[in-house]
Amino acid sequence: MRRITQSRKLHQVRYDVRGPILVEAQRLEAEGHKILKLNIGNPAPFGFEAPEAVLQDMVHHLPNAQGYSDSRGIYSARTAVAHYYQSRGLTDTHVDDVFIGNGVSELISMVLTAFVDEGNEVLVPAPDYPLWTGAVTLAGGTPVHYRCDESNGWNPDLEDIESKITPNTHALVVINPNNPTGAVYSEDVVKGLVDIARRHDLVLLSDEIYEKILFADEHHQPVHHHTATFAGDDVLCLTFSGLSKAYRVCGFRAGWVMVSGPKSMATDFLEGLTLLANMRMCANVPGQHAIQTALGGYQSIEEYIHPGGRFYEQSKLAWRLLNEIPGVSCVEPHGALYCFPRLDPEVYAIEDDQQFVIELLREKKILVTHGTGFNWFEPDHFRLVTLPDIEVLTEAIGRIAEFLETRRA
Ligand code: PLP
Repeated sequence: MRRITQSRKLHQVRYDVRGPILVEAQRLEAEGHKILKLNIGNPAPFGFEAPEAVLQDMVHHLPNAQGYSDSRGIYSARTAVAHYYQSRGLTDTHVDDVFIGNGVSELISMVLTAFVDEGNEVLVPAPDYPLWTGAVTLAGGTPVHYRCDESNGWNPDLEDIESKITPNTHALVVINPNNPTGAVYSEDVVKGLVDIARRHDLVLLSDEIYEKILFADEHHQPVHHHTATFAGDDVLCLTFSGLSKAYRVCGFRAGWVMVSGPKSMATDFLEGLTLLANMRMCANVPGQHAIQTALGGYQSIEEYIHPGGRFYEQSKLAWRLLNEIPGVSCVEPHGALYCFPRLDPEVYAIEDDQQFVIELLREKKILVTHGTGFNWFEPDHFRLVTLPDIEVLTEAIGRIAEFLETRRA
């Protein structure tokens, strides 16, 4: 038979979080090693459960969830999402502005496919959640990375964004709270991003999946600002969010995108998005049934994100322990599920950070993700998922410290 190769479209597409590092972890597991996988923000394997009502509701609706649904999503889920944004001050949000997808992941790909053409540039943060870069490329566009500034709390560098705008720039991606850095943007920063979009006529793509995972204590009270709030009625904004993280049901594949701003100027794009929604029939229907109860019910995430709660305590512990390692510095995350520490190049001369992560995996049986896998510019960072309990996390960071001790220049 002739050799079957992947399409040329895929040649520039990368998704390292589950790439060669995971293949190596699986090879080691097949050899009988126990690997601690800290490469994916999936709460369930670390003892987190969905709110009881969300599970009950999904089970209750299962018999009615056997058929396809409306391809934009079931009515109850779409109205629940619209009401959620209305209650957050986005009063001009309607059921028809909401599309439900198999997680935010599917919607990112659908939205980019629906409006990016060859030659279009899309501004994507560096570091980013790498699906954004991959999906822009797959859609035929060119991702252009703008710098988030580590020395300024990983905030987006607005001047860098401005300097990278060309006549071909089409859209600006915002990830807030940020994966992998844990930064939560202030009102001024979000307004600054919106202002750039407004002046340069860019579409805003705002990934807000961690909007409810914010660590508040007496020192910091991070507040999440929806980009759409400032985009108003003159900047087209697509807001992405879903149940995976705050409701701890990554496996239900329940996410949404909400369209706001001058929708009348985007009817052709929205027809394209509807076409793509139709072509994939609908999102997982049982998962859609969980959305109304999740958004309207008891917000159990509150038990996890304050002092004493697991997400909060684990994040603070990881951040503190990482900073205790010589040559390692980590900006304090104020939200999400990750730490993104820097390895001082003067102390650890790393040329290939994926190889570095593979060596850590082989020697210490811990899987983290290399920073360049998040499109960071230098091989001097890695991302650690802070989901394991305090004991496991302490052990894991201890093993990372031991490994680093052997790598000092
Ligand atoms: N966006 C960001 C920033 C993420 O970190 C993730 C998952 O880790 C996703 C989107 C995808 O989420 P979903 O499970 O809704 O597809």
